[in-house]
Amino acid sequence: MNASSPVLVIHGGAGTIAPSRSVAEELVYHAALADILTAGAACLEAGGSALDAVGIAVDLLEECPLFNAGHGAVFTSAGTHELDAAVMDGATLRAGAVAAVTRVRRPGRAARAIMEAGEHVLLAGPGAEAFARHQGLEMVEPDFFSTEARRAQLVQAQATGRIALDHDGASPPLDEARKFGTVGAVALDRHGHLAALTSTGGMTNKRPGRIGDSPLIGAGTYADDRTAAVSCTGTGEAFMRIAAAHDVCARMAYGGRSLEDAARAVVEGALPSVGGRGGLIAVDAAGRIAMPFNTEGMYRGHVRMGEPPATAIFGQAR
Ligand code: ASP
Repeated sequence: MNASSPVLVIHGGAGTIAPSRSVAEELVYHAALADILTAGAACLEAGGSALDAVGIAVDLLEECPLFNAGHGAVFTSAGTHELDAAVMDGATLRAGAVAAVTRVRRPGRAARAIMEAGEHVLLAGPGAEAFARHQGLEMVEPDFFSTEARRAQLVQAQATGRIALDHDGASPPLDEARKFGTVGAVALDRHGHLAALTSTGGMTNKRPGRIGDSPLIGAGTYADDRTAAVSCTGTGEAFMRIAAAHDVCARMAYGGRSLEDAARAVVEGALPSVGGRGGLIAVDAAGRIAMPFNTEGMYRGHVRMGEPPATAIFGQAR
């Protein structure tokens, strides 16, 4: 393995394993993750930037109804969708984010447009939508994001009075009432630059107006060429309270920890200490990767140039 060659890592959320899963159900997820990794890898292979590679990966994850972002996003308690996303460029520390948008088809692209405009880092609600429309990004009717599977999750969550992670629950292959289906991507390109992008529908049955960790720079998303690019998934409030994504980078920068050590310390130590569940994906400037989680599973995968994509759902976190 060449540790410094370009690499792309993606996640599709973390959560609880449902007791009985067929191999066929799991294969659907593996195939979706592998296809998305292949598309992102083609970008890196052609000399594309880490920013472009994470953009391609998240575009596809958002469009895939298996994951809680874009089409297939979870419902709020009001039966609506409010989407959050953030992107960060490790080379320049530029960042962009949107929160609580309801009509932007690809929130990850809106985050990127805010970053490129350079004026603000985070836009929320109608202001974010006006900006996206002005940028020429595709807008959709709010029900574009709805799927029957997510509506069933809302009904189930409301029946039990819970605010649930997307992958914590009832249908394949993680427990849909207790899973976090946020999507994310981190990459290292051939120029040694890092980028991170996270996009989510949030948590099933969340209160309208609730904003999670994903669009908050330092909480759910962070990238710095000097340390790592990080994208998180899980109970957002806990990730916010420990500034999880930045904490990984801080442990590396100030504590001299390796990526693997820093990522594990956050996911296995800091996060559970505030009651947090979930995981993260990360890559450092040498191309080392970490994908720890403290739930039963996390949809994840990575690809290095010249190697086939590798995907996993359960098993040993790495
Ligand atoms: N972290 C996301 C949020 O709290 C949820 C998830 O990861 O699925 O909005």
